Amino acid sequence: MEVSFFGSRVQALSMDQVDAYLEEALAQGKKTRIYTPNTEIVMEAKDKAWIRDLVNSGDLRLADGIGLVIGAKMKKIPLEERVTGFDVSIHLLQLAQREGYKVYFLGAKKGIAQRAAQEVEEDYPGLVVVGSHHGYYEKSSLDQDLTQDEEEIIEEIQRLQADIVFVGLGFPVQEVFIHKASQRLGRGVWIGNGGVLDILAKEQKRAPEIFIRLHLEWFYRLIKNPSRWKRQLAIPKCLIQVITKKNAVKIVREDFNENESKGN
Ligand code: UDP
Repeated sequence: MEVSFFGSRVQALSMDQVDAYLEEALAQGKKTRIYTPNTEIVMEAKDKAWIRDLVNSGDLRLADGIGLVIGAKMKKIPLEERVTGFDVSIHLLQLAQREGYKVYFLGAKKGIAQRAAQEVEEDYPGLVVVGSHHGYYEKSSLDQDLTQDEEEIIEEIQRLQADIVFVGLGFPVQEVFIHKASQRLGRGVWIGNGGVLDILAKEQKRAPEIFIRLHLEWFYRLIKNPSRWKRQLAIPKCLIQVITKKNAVKIVREDFNENESKGN
């Protein structure tokens, strides 16, 4: 099933379905772009067609935000379970460990991606992180040519034959990079996963399990980092629109057509 939130289309998939999709995509070497829009992203995409199109061009588009889960519930749309970018990232590491896929980390402040690589190689014996690069370099926007820095990073990913690339540059910079880089290389599983490298490097803590289970991760982040409050206004704003706008959230297709999603 696919659900539109103000025009951003997310797929209602369980973790098992995501795993099956990724196993097959990796086995076949299919280019796969994974985006995990949260409430803030969907609210921004609402008024910006280029962001909406970018999000919708992802092969896997998973709703990662409490505003979306509640919004869907209010419309009695079952979003099965919440599959977060963090969980998908961990499953990709496990898959890489099991099947010998090569991983590349891009993003975060200098030294973090490298530290994350060391930590995961320790935590997942046998897993190989073939390379890493920090996220503070010159970037191009969607309609510009790649910068020299970007060309070099993409060349490195190609040379090292990475199968899975974590791109943690924040939204929408990471989605723009994935769009361009995956188009250039035509293969690989690419995930835009925000601050995941900071967590893997043990630089930042994820919310304790109890907050996650109670859907209060947003609250944990808020108390840890109060300056986020402005960004988190997206959550009530989203819910008000869901209540007042009839077609804000709606089912746009009942099935999940893998071939179509993978083909574009
Ligand atoms: N980041 C980066 N390059 C930039 C801006 C941000 O690598 O130019 C990294 C930042 O260090 C962090 C990650 O992107 O590791 C996520 O940033 P943020 O928390 O702003 O994004 P969110 O995922 O919360 O939208």
